[in-house]
Amino acid sequence: MKKITVIGGGLAGTEAALQIAKRGIEVDLYEMRPEKKTGAHSTDYLAELVCSNSLGSNDLSSASGLLKQELRTLGSYLIKFADETSIPAGTALAVDREGFARKVSLAVKENPLINLINEEICRIPETTPVIIASGPLTSQALSEDIKKFTGKDHLYFFDAIAPIIERDSVNFDKAFMGSRYNKGEASYINCPMNKDEYEIFHEKLINSPLIELKEFEKNSKFFESCLPLEILAKRGKDALRYACLKPVGLIDPRTNVKNYAVVQLRQDNKAASLYNLVGFQTNLKWSAQKELIKCIPGLENAEILRYGVMHRNTFIHSPSVLKPTLQAKVREDLFFAGQISGVEGYTESVATGLLAGINASLFLKSQEMLILEPISVLGALCSYITHPEHKNFQPINSNFGILKPLNTAMKGRKNKQHKKRLFVERALSYLTQITNCIF
Ligand SMILES: Cc1cc2nc3c(=O)[nH]c(=O)nc-3n(C[C@H](O)[C@H](O)[C@H](O)COP(=O)(O)OP(=O)(O)OC[C@H]3O[C@@H](n4cnc5c(N)ncnc54)[C@H](O)[C@@H]3O)c2cc1C
Repeated sequence: MKKITVIGGGLAGTEAALQIAKRGIEVDLYEMRPEKKTGAHSTDYLAELVCSNSLGSNDLSSASGLLKQELRTLGSYLIKFADETSIPAGTALAVDREGFARKVSLAVKENPLINLINEEICRIPETTPVIIASGPLTSQALSEDIKKFTGKDHLYFFDAIAPIIERDSVNFDKAFMGSRYNKGEASYINCPMNKDEYEIFHEKLINSPLIELKEFEKNSKFFESCLPLEILAKRGKDALRYACLKPVGLIDPRTNVKNYAVVQLRQDNKAASLYNLVGFQTNLKWSAQKELIKCIPGLENAEILRYGVMHRNTFIHSPSVLKPTLQAKVREDLFFAGQISGVEGYTESVATGLLAGINASLFLKSQEMLILEPISVLGALCSYITHPEHKNFQPINSNFGILKPLNTAMKGRKNKQHKKRLFVERALSYLTQITNCIF
């Protein structure tokens, strides 16, 4: 039987390869690291999480939590590995970064049907069914070839990584452990600020020097939910207090004082020795980041182990290029998955990898492929990114707003919770049926 080629050993590519192998089909999985670097990955592992170690909410009342449950129902390998390497993070699914990547790498390397080839692919292969899962940092050569294939310009926008600091350098006379509304374990470090401290911080931030962008980067669009801290701060004095520095639900148990603003730090590794600053993705010069972090109460002596950096994000204009099966419209044996397909986020990348892996396998066996209804989050994501009417397309992450509405009209706060429960029941029973039919 023919093989399937997967390009990219990231979150989408490894999930796709494992799904294909599960269906008894051989896979050639191409990963250009460690020979060729991306600028954001720092290890040789497959499925490396390049920034936050959180895969987002695990709570079923959020779309991200529902997507994870859908993936468990569909037999996702990477979500299983994430569950197995999870570390405390309130209601979020955060993982031991290295433990997770190590587990994925081992599962791929030990699978007799997966041939891992550490090589850069510069042209879209013509010979076999192919899944392109080369991610937001797709190499230049392959990007150029994809551009030729799609016939449209790629779109670029920029995200940024948040800094990581050493826990032992935090001053716990000022900082306190806790999670918002005391939900889950008290696993976040919280650095509270009064009004004066917040204003000094804000002033410093908006006047800090930035790393110069290259000419072609200057007109870049940012993804709204991953804005650099300094851009958000420039929107208004209180913008940060309604975003990553929001103080609600974070009362210091020692004083019972409600704070003016709070900087949160999330555990980054299993040993709980590293913490990342939540929402602090930034393009400030490193010296400016150092100064800014040191003016946060509790972080005066912070040891910064990784600074924030900006990064490129490459994605195709999927509404004109893809079908909801994740196949290219003009070449049926070519699939796209992961961030390059127009979804945004770790879990969304895993999810599209899973679907592309299943559909490429069905394609090879000449069986009917899956087009998931937008009554599941995964179905809604695929339907959204491939909907031809989305002319000003921007990558999207999971949210209830893209799901097909329920038949019943419901208003009011109480009904909102009820509505989410109905979304969850509808999605999971639908995917359970699919699972029973095709697996
Ligand atoms: C710097 C950065 C920070 C991010 N932070 C977050 C975050 O905190 N939370 C979140 O949910 N999402 C984040 N994202 C977005 C996105 O969820 C991740 O990038 C995610 O890893 C995407 O999964 P993927 O499988 O599409 O790509 P990746 O995981 O990047 O995998 C793609 C793989 O393809 C390889 N590759 C590239 N070109 C070639 C080639 N020509 N030949 C062979 N191999 C190739 C790369 O080396 C890489 O290993 C971030 C993205 C970036 C770039």
